[in-house]
Amino acid sequence: MKFLSGISLAAAMAMTGSAAFAADLTVGVSWSNFQEERWKTDEAAIKDALEAGGADYISADAQSSSSKQLSDIESLIAQGVDALIVLAQDTQAIGPAIQAAADEGIPVIAYDRLIEDSRAFYLTFDNVEVGRMQARAVLEALPAGNYVMIKGSPTDPNADFLRGGQQEVIQAAVDSGKIKIVAEAYTDGWLPANAQRNMEQILTANDNKVDAVIASNDGTAGGVVAALTAQGMEGLPVSGQDGDHAALNRVALGTQTVSVWKDARDLGKNAGEIAVALAGGAALSDVAGSAAWTSPGGTAMTSMFLAPVPVTAGNLSVVVDAGWISKDKLCQGV
Ligand code: BGC
Repeated sequence: MKFLSGISLAAAMAMTGSAAFAADLTVGVSWSNFQEERWKTDEAAIKDALEAGGADYISADAQSSSSKQLSDIESLIAQGVDALIVLAQDTQAIGPAIQAAADEGIPVIAYDRLIEDSRAFYLTFDNVEVGRMQARAVLEALPAGNYVMIKGSPTDPNADFLRGGQQEVIQAAVDSGKIKIVAEAYTDGWLPANAQRNMEQILTANDNKVDAVIASNDGTAGGVVAALTAQGMEGLPVSGQDGDHAALNRVALGTQTVSVWKDARDLGKNAGEIAVALAGGAALSDVAGSAAWTSPGGTAMTSMFLAPVPVTAGNLSVVVDAGWISKDKLCQGV
């Protein structure tokens, strides 16, 4: 419990007209891999929204360990959180933590990544569309040739949503034989170093006969570009997503074709606001803008999907105008 200095509980309750004074609320965020650049932006937006809603923020980072994430969530629950925002490291392994939250009546937001549990509110971007946008940009840059698919983490459902969207776009060219998928690999933990190692092995196995790479995020794109550069092959069409500053600079320089930008400021803001509403007793379906959605596995979810935006060398001004990156941080300006 926390009170504004100089204001008694009775006065605070009179001010809000409610027994649950918002400043009593604490929201816990369980991050899976906080080292990824984008999550810092998400965190700042969540913090702002919670502050505006009068709730406190506490968090833990699982450092890409699904077992650490379980103990992190136990600890957040023990600290008395009123709602949880969970970026799941492993969609299967997270189950007991969601059960533990449900046992305590604590609402859960499945943040960015699907948790197959109807009790969670699923808040994300349209990941299948992100995959389509990645493939469209690469296909436009190179409509025929040897393609490599660098996928995300096998424990993150987003990896297959993205891969599904990518396939939709290239299917016709694959069927006609214009595109040959010479290799594809998941990236454990989405770690750039793993993507780089996979790409090095793929280049070796294919005598460097690779013409384009559909990489599933900017981190893995960075690993791919490092592997290509070591072979003097930088400049091949490569995709990514997140609008990481390093990736936007690669787009400006021509070593990455597209970064699909997902305004993490919006996702974080929505998460903070929804967490405060759910902590205050709102039902999942009461959330404005929420919609019913059924996962490919058949789980009925209450969800909200935000829209992604592809960023290529031709429209870098979109991220500058939105205040996502300043002109001077983009090496070539726009
Ligand atoms: C997110 C991406 C992110 C990746 C690695 C995915 O679930 O949607 O934005 O780059 O995880 O953290």
